[in-house]
Amino acid sequence: MGYRVTLIPGDGIGPEVTRAARTVAEATGLSIEWDVVEAGELAIQRSGNPLPDEVLGSIRKNRVALKGPITTPIGSGFRSVNVALRQQLELYASVRPARAIAGEGTRFPETNLVVVREATEGLYSGVEHWVDHDHTAAETVNIITRKASDRILRFAFELARREKRRRLTAVHKANIMKTTGGLFQTAFREMAAKYPDIPSDERLIDNMCMQLAKKPEEYDVLVTTNLFGDILSDLCAGLAGGLGVAPGALYGDTLAVFEPVHGSAPKYAGQDRADPVAEILCLEMLFRHLGEREAADRVFRAVWETIAEKKVVTYDLALPGYTAHPVTPSSCSAMAAEIARKVPLVNLSTPLPKGAWTPAGGTSDPVLEA
Ligand code: NAD
Repeated sequence: MGYRVTLIPGDGIGPEVTRAARTVAEATGLSIEWDVVEAGELAIQRSGNPLPDEVLGSIRKNRVALKGPITTPIGSGFRSVNVALRQQLELYASVRPARAIAGEGTRFPETNLVVVREATEGLYSGVEHWVDHDHTAAETVNIITRKASDRILRFAFELARREKRRRLTAVHKANIMKTTGGLFQTAFREMAAKYPDIPSDERLIDNMCMQLAKKPEEYDVLVTTNLFGDILSDLCAGLAGGLGVAPGALYGDTLAVFEPVHGSAPKYAGQDRADPVAEILCLEMLFRHLGEREAADRVFRAVWETIAEKKVVTYDLALPGYTAHPVTPSSCSAMAAEIARKVPLVNLSTPLPKGAWTPAGGTSDPVLEA
């Protein structure tokens, strides 16, 4: 069966890591026709619009997309293309698994968390303004609605049930933000009552950060609002080995866009140095979404074995302090080629080491299975 998938290479390291993912996709033997569309800086140069209708149209038509990171100008310039994409396509659930792979690149080899982040409102709603003419005071409005809170909480509980997760923790700041935080907290408590089979609890965001830094293995599914989810998913990525290995997915009711947690890392753009694993694991999530379980398992296993072998890994996985023996860093394209080489060779019948993430207890697909 052939698939047509939208591909947004993005900018910065985006074109390099999406090229790497395509190399790995080819190695699976699946027939994929990539519908390549530009967003961000390249689109502005071409059409004056960072998010052309063509991009939205392609995703609506194909219903599934693989996306590279896109730079957002800081302090001024156009609004985030990433935020606009989520809002315009109602991709409300950002799912970011943080899985330590082969215990490498991390001080917490047991890490196996998933952050479920509301992705359409909160402090990313884009409602902000100067309060006075002299620009000495400013406001950003934190919009929290019952509808979006219920939607993301239900999504997180369903994910926890489907993936047989052991615990769900809602993260908020309802002690200080009594209306917005309080609304999310109330919605959580009422939703939790509908899922008595899923042990669930709450943490304030500040305490949550401390707990994660100290004992991440005690937590499992974290569900939260937009800004807290953005920060927590970078924190969890750091626990699991860094942004270089942290994939993500954005789900709406019928559409799905797969993009890494990391940004465009401008300082590495065009150098063939960036870690391709996050984007390659987005491909793995995409294959699960399509129901291509064997291809997904092969990609994950090939990534695992490449990282465990530590012969062909990028600089972030070769850093002193994380390796017993010195490792010479490889390029992005060399690591992708090594993963692609392994894809048809890996033996799926030999179990991964005890404690390793396995698909049955990890990412599964909410759109196809819901
Ligand atoms: P970043 O994620 O690009 O980089 C943070 C750090 O992680 C840097 O040291 C970077 O070099 C490193 N890093 C990131 N990806 C890596 C990889 N694949 N391999 C190895 N190292 C990697 O975050 P930033 O510097 O804060 O943001 C840069 C730009 O990306 C900004 O314009 C930001 O708005 C944008 N951004 C986009 C997205 C997205 O497209 N979804 C997400 C986050 C940030």
